[in-house]
Amino acid sequence: MNRSQAIFPGSFDPLTNGHVDLVVRALSVFDRVLVAVLDNPNKETLFSVKERTAFVRESFQRQGESVQVHTFSGLLVDFAREQEVKVVLRGLRAISDFDYEAQMALMNRSLNPEIETFFLMTRERYSYISSTLVKQIAPFGGDVSSLVPPPVAAALEQKLALR
Ligand code: ADP
Repeated sequence: MNRSQAIFPGSFDPLTNGHVDLVVRALSVFDRVLVAVLDNPNKETLFSVKERTAFVRESFQRQGESVQVHTFSGLLVDFAREQEVKVVLRGLRAISDFDYEAQMALMNRSLNPEIETFFLMTRERYSYISSTLVKQIAPFGGDVSSLVPPPVAAALEQKLALR
């Protein structure tokens, strides 16, 4: 069977309920979503790539084989070619996301014209959630349990307790 697949690339530092919702909704369009966690040694992250991939694996257990997690470094178009996937999935929250996302989509197309970027609009209730905001409020004791999946909430608590 020829499965339709999409790659959902990102830093996922950490995975949020906005990311999870996007993947779950994408599964009504694609048979399989490959969540591709960026391993960029030049970018400082709160969670290691190992921790970030574990969050994805633990949070999509219910979806079984239809959600896979990979790590990648270097160019996304090279990873897509390696995986033989032609669709890149990205999310849009507000107009402020548009500039960056358009630039990336056009750059990826110029690097490999076979790649198409699909955008899914955020769900209203997740539109204000970002990994950056989660990392900003967690150290001050802000309740993140409604913003991130349970394994992420637990890891944030543990990481902050060690500080
Ligand atoms: P990157 O560092 O590549 O932007 P992120 O992990 O921050 O990676 O985001 C990955 C993708 O998920 C991006 O396309 C981003 O717009 C989308 N995204 C992030 N948060 C949300 C949300 N709350 N709702 C919908 N899409 C989101």
